[in-house]
Amino acid sequence: MEYNPHRDEYWNQEALHQDMQQAFDICNGCRLCYNLCPSFPALFQIVESYDDDASKVTTEEADHVADLCFQCKLCYMKCPYIPPHRFDLDFPRLMLRSKAIRAKKKGISRTDRFLGNPEQVGRMGQIAPGLANWSVKNTGLRRLMERIYGIDHRRHLPRFAPTRFSDWAAKHQPQSVPNLDEVDVVLFSTCTVEYHEPGIGQAAMQVLKHNNIRAVVPKGQVCCGMPALDGGDIDGALRRARANVDLLAPYVRAGKPILALQPTCALLLKQDYPTLVESEEAKLVAQHTRDITEYLASAMKKGTLKKEFESSPGSVTYHLSCHTKAQGLKRAAKELLESIDGCEVEMVDRCAGIDGTWGLKAEYYEESLQVSQKLTERFQARHDTHACSDCALAGLQIETVTDREPVHPVEILARSYGLIGGS
Ligand code: SF4
Ligand code: SF4
Repeated sequence: MEYNPHRDEYWNQEALHQDMQQAFDICNGCRLCYNLCPSFPALFQIVESYDDDASKVTTEEADHVADLCFQCKLCYMKCPYIPPHRFDLDFPRLMLRSKAIRAKKKGISRTDRFLGNPEQVGRMGQIAPGLANWSVKNTGLRRLMERIYGIDHRRHLPRFAPTRFSDWAAKHQPQSVPNLDEVDVVLFSTCTVEYHEPGIGQAAMQVLKHNNIRAVVPKGQVCCGMPALDGGDIDGALRRARANVDLLAPYVRAGKPILALQPTCALLLKQDYPTLVESEEAKLVAQHTRDITEYLASAMKKGTLKKEFESSPGSVTYHLSCHTKAQGLKRAAKELLESIDGCEVEMVDRCAGIDGTWGLKAEYYEESLQVSQKLTERFQARHDTHACSDCALAGLQIETVTDREPVHPVEILARSYGLIGGS
């Protein structure tokens, strides 16, 4: 099966249809993923209607299955047939290919164009953040926004911060033009932190500085490209990936790790940049990228983080996001937080049903809530604990249902060190 958008075969509709039918046949025989997401139940129902003959699945039906895949990657982690197995099955990438071919043929929808460009949305919102934040809470405007852009009016959306994280960081990093010899780590801010949650980046900078780790935030970073990929916009994702690789390459050549502040972006840099950009630099960027939680948990284990804290968060309910899990980081945040004296963490390993842009769309809002039901029920049951998630978008789902606002593990760490609110 073809997963590389640089090859002609990737874009061949007939070849895609054959690959989809083959994948559907394998999955229908296996069914290990029947309860992971809405995509598989829809697929199995369709194939059953043809007496288990996947070769009869039509293009429209295959498109429907692809549209229900929100790229959580849970099936990829479960699947025994992923490459290099001879079945060569990468179900999520196959679904992305289907969306990419449709986007090329029919154009990218207005909703996907809007959601695929978080920098533009972030820049617009930050012109007048007070007005923008009022607008996203105004029911009338949100209904209008739903009609124009297809974003469900009930969905809590990220708030716009008054200051961009990179502007704050420029004033707090060691040098305005970083000297590579005086840099220990590089922060990849991500759009979420840059425009909406600068507190996560500030907490990360403060925790690193407190532990004598010199961090810089190079100017010129762009979106990782995942929202563009979600809408099938391979060119948009490729353009962004190239820009980030060019910017980060001098640091990784000098052996500096890139610390991504959100798990989805970390996953994309690690897993997709080498295929998207196809260069030695892209491979180096992938090899040197770490999730911020991964880096800090490893430093804590090695004994290079201070273990003296001013306070303890006590009980924490921590959501393990799918894209954190997909990086193989099941225990990192829990171990990091439990290194704080008196901190007890319950980890909730359940999908939030947002995964990028899917759960924001009006057409999938109800299904998204259903996917996240077990997660949100657990947060409701543990209402007297601190709510924590390393994925800010998953946090929005928790907020939408429970009215609780989870914070990132690094924010809990900064607070426990007594750093939050410092300069
Ligand atoms: S990536 Fe997630 S949403 Fe997509 S098919 Fe796999 S389990 Fe379902
Ligand atoms: S993706 Fe893999 S594990 Fe999941 S149903 Fe298909 S073959 Fe089975």
